[in-house]
Amino acid sequence: MSTFQELGLSEPLLRVLDSCGYEKPTPIQANAIPFILQGRDVIGAAQTGTGKTAAFALPTLQRLGSHASRPRCLVLVPTRELAMQVDENFKRYGSHADLRVTLLYGGVGYHTQVHSLKAGADIIVATPGRLFDLWERHHVHLDSIEVLILDEVDRMLDMGFIEDVSRIIRLCPKERQTLLFSATVEKSILNIAEWALRDPEIVDARSGATSAETVAHYVYPVESYQKYDLLLALLAKTDFKSVLVFTRTKRDADRITEWVRSTSHSVATMHADRAQNERAEALTGFKSGKYQVLVATDIAARGLDVRGISHVINYNVPDHPEDYVHRIGRTGRASEEGEAFTLFSPDELLYLQAIERLLCRPIERRKLEGFNYRFAPMMGTSAAAANTPARRRNR
Ligand code: AMP
Repeated sequence: MSTFQELGLSEPLLRVLDSCGYEKPTPIQANAIPFILQGRDVIGAAQTGTGKTAAFALPTLQRLGSHASRPRCLVLVPTRELAMQVDENFKRYGSHADLRVTLLYGGVGYHTQVHSLKAGADIIVATPGRLFDLWERHHVHLDSIEVLILDEVDRMLDMGFIEDVSRIIRLCPKERQTLLFSATVEKSILNIAEWALRDPEIVDARSGATSAETVAHYVYPVESYQKYDLLLALLAKTDFKSVLVFTRTKRDADRITEWVRSTSHSVATMHADRAQNERAEALTGFKSGKYQVLVATDIAARGLDVRGISHVINYNVPDHPEDYVHRIGRTGRASEEGEAFTLFSPDELLYLQAIERLLCRPIERRKLEGFNYRFAPMMGTSAAAANTPARRRNR
């Protein structure tokens, strides 16, 4: 594999990467950086945890050079949390340069964001709704954008941002570089790419849509009414540093948080109904180790980069197979080891089979030794299929 130097990155960036402890480029970095440095449009197929943020941030910082008092790069991301993370990454990788990064997202007041735009931003990292809002109020102009980065586009479409995103793309000058990153590259993504990108180079860094290779993941079959007991038993028996528990609904997230709180574990919750300051506090507390357990809906499944998550537990089998890859991708990030457990009840069989089809292999079934199963757990994939549960999205 090539080195960062061979990819054409400048000396100051090489020094930053050295200080970050990155020894060699990840596949998405090795494949995308040379094209981005050439000014080419790129479609990057990569899930989080693959180093995709550095893949677009490093060459973009190099191309932007130094401060110019007008926004030249716009990064659109689906969630506030991801926006904060991308902002942090740009600041870290660009610490040697005098480029200014401005972060715009909803759920908070306008004053600070407007002020920071007025002070002169080179790079804007934004969620679509707030950016459009600020554009309508004439606080931000996009006619000087040279590089447009659309991150986690599949997620933005999934969250219903297609109209805002399309409008924003049209507000940017036609003469620009466009980089589109998405975990899945399906027809709806290619439809956008067709009109928004020019002769893009497609860089596929998904390891065959498989999950991060350092994650060992297992399914724990159990009747649904025993999931709660099994979750607590797993927490008690597992030697974990930090655990991210995913639930399908906000209500489940709240309930499970209450349960876990009644044990000796410190716990916080993150979902769309929590106020922005509560979500930020939960995340910061989880990152700092104040909370050992974070219970979250999928809003936290993508993009979040929390170092040292040792375990992910899916309380439900995700009903969209890609979500499974994203969820377990929260652990085992960039060469760290991780484990992911999925609690699986018979009514979720079709969802589990969809995940196994996506991964092209079965996931190992496990039984928790010493757990008082009321019914023998369903260990085989070939067990009779149950009814398809309704598809629900409740974040
Ligand atoms: P991302 O996929 O952009 O969310 O990045 C996942 C994690 O990998 C982040 O914590 C990065 O700091 C880290 N990372 C990115 N590139 C590298 C690299 N080349 N070597 C080691 N870690 C990296």
